[in-house]
This record gives sequence, structure tokens and C-alpha cells, in this order.
Amino acid sequence: MVPGESDAQRLMSALVKATKLDPSMVSERHALLRQISSILWWLNPGHPALSIPALNRYLSLPIERWIDDQYRQGFEGCLQVNDEPSTLCDEIALEYDPRTGWENVQSIVKDVRDRCQHRPRGDDEYRTFRLFLCEHPHIHSSQALDFLVELGVQFKSLFEQIPEQFTRAGKFYPCPSCGWPMQIQRSEVCCGSQWCEKSVGVCRWSNGQLYRLDTGRSVPAVDAQDRYRLNTALWKFTLIPGLLERRLHDRLAKLGLRPTLWPDVDLSDVKVEVGDLEIWLDAKVWRSTRMLGHRLANTDAKGIWIVIPDYQKGEVPSLREQCEYHLILTESQCVTKIARLCRR
Ligand SMILES: [Zn+2]
Repeated sequence: MVPGESDAQRLMSALVKATKLDPSMVSERHALLRQISSILWWLNPGHPALSIPALNRYLSLPIERWIDDQYRQGFEGCLQVNDEPSTLCDEIALEYDPRTGWENVQSIVKDVRDRCQHRPRGDDEYRTFRLFLCEHPHIHSSQALDFLVELGVQFKSLFEQIPEQFTRAGKFYPCPSCGWPMQIQRSEVCCGSQWCEKSVGVCRWSNGQLYRLDTGRSVPAVDAQDRYRLNTALWKFTLIPGLLERRLHDRLAKLGLRPTLWPDVDLSDVKVEVGDLEIWLDAKVWRSTRMLGHRLANTDAKGIWIVIPDYQKGEVPSLREQCEYHLILTESQCVTKIARLCRR
């Protein structure tokens, strides 16, 4: 967890642990819920302490309805859906705990990057690998992956089983935005990513068929037999930001520039030259910009521009305050700034 953990961080960490705990571990779950109840009471002394049954119910309610904004690091949504941990719960865990989240993904990607650095066509191979992750939100176990074997990457380090609750009659429904299997038991169906929800919105069931609300089109189902999904950490830290990275690449190309994705074996996400100026962009799509700020404040700036989604525009000032040595921009601000540099 985060060094110098505050009560608020202990609260979020205990909430995630309690939600993800195996339901058979009743006494452990009760102990965690008691801990949560005391932290909440400590943070809001004017309110009576919440009982265990009440807290159990609250886990299925949006946290913004029962935890003050200052204590939930800007996270919004339900921790559990149909008594199962939600994707939000996984995302909180991944953004809070670097060992399972960012650092874990970095180590998988770093292994490949290190190997690529010593291969004659390493730069291209690395780019193929990153693109492969973006283009394979799910995969059939029979698919030939010779190039992964060559790069020393094991199938199980990239892919995981699709949870049963994500399937219906042996089929799953890929997100229209990112392609990852969606959480289908909710009334508003989505993959759980804020990026996808803001880009294409949610889907709804009607007469046993799933429809996109933005276009009214039906969402085709895919046979789940022998299919695996990209693991949750890679989905969150490579596939989703990959959508922003690729869009930035395309928008800069439209300005007449020649951007490069994942340049020089991943020194940044996108590199672009404007005249004599070399610009390095790093796209970040985190649920909590406060957790991102904490992460960035502890990393070397190296002159890289940090680009976040447009829907987080309101968070830019506080993020800039949190990590003053980084240039923080939304996608549109970044493209506008580079367009201006082109005109100079
Ligand atoms: Zn998605």
C-alpha cells in the first residue's frame, strides 16, 4: 500500500480486502468490516457507527453515496455487483497496490523490453508486442503465438480465465470500446472502465439481447469456450491507455507530423518531433487522478508530458499541484499545444 498510509487509505484498502475475500471466510470478513466501521466512525465522529449487516449492504451501493469524497481518493461506483467484487474494486486494488498493479505490469513489459533491446529488430518486435496486447482483449487458447514464445512470454502471464459471472449461456459480450468481456449482470452493462463508459456509454438488455445505448446496435456475443481474457492489470495499464496512445498518435499524424508509438523500446508512449523539438508523451488512464498524482510525484519527470483523458479535465489543476515537475495535459490540451508549436 501507499507509504505513510492515512486513515483514508487504510479505509479503502480494508474495503477492497473485505469485498475480495472468499465468502466462506466469514469471521475474517467480519473482522475487516468491524475495522472499516471504526475507521468510518473515526473519520465522521458525528455519525453513529455502521453495523456489519449495514456495511455488507453498502458494498453494493455506489461509494460516493456513503463515503466522503476526501476519503475515497475520487473513486466512484460500487465495490460489488451481485455479491461479486466489481471491476472498480479490482481497479482500486491495482491503483493502490503497486506490487499487484503498476509494478507488476511494468515487470511483465520490462522483461520483454529488456529482451527486445538486445535483438536486431527489437524496436519493431517490442511495438508488435504492445500492439498485440491492445488488439487481444480476449484470445482463443488455440491461437498460434509463436512470436510470444520467441520473446520468452508465457501465455498465462498475459491471459486469465473469463470469470463465470461474465458469461451467459456459454457466451460473453466484448466491450464495444476496448473488447474486454463486459460485466453482464448489471442493468447498465459495461466492461467497468471509466474510459469506455465515457467513450461509448453503457449497454442494456432487451428481450435477451444486449444493445448499445449510444448507437442502438446489438452487441454480438462470443463463444466463451477455451477463450481467455487479457489479465486485469494488463487490461487496465496497457490496453486502456493504449486506446488513448493510439488516438493521440492518429491526431498528431493528422497535423502532418510523424509520431512514433512506443519509440526506442518504450522510452515513452508516443514520440513526435516538431521542428528541432522532440516531444515525449506518456498517456495515463487512472480511475483516481489522486493515486496517479501520488505515483507521478515519486517518479522521475525526464521531461515527458503526461496526458490524461479529456473527461478528467477538471482534475488537471489538482494533479499539477500534486506533481509540479510534470507537465500535465488532457488529450485535447496536448494536441492543441502541439498544433500551436507546429504553427510557430
Ligand atoms: Zn471497455
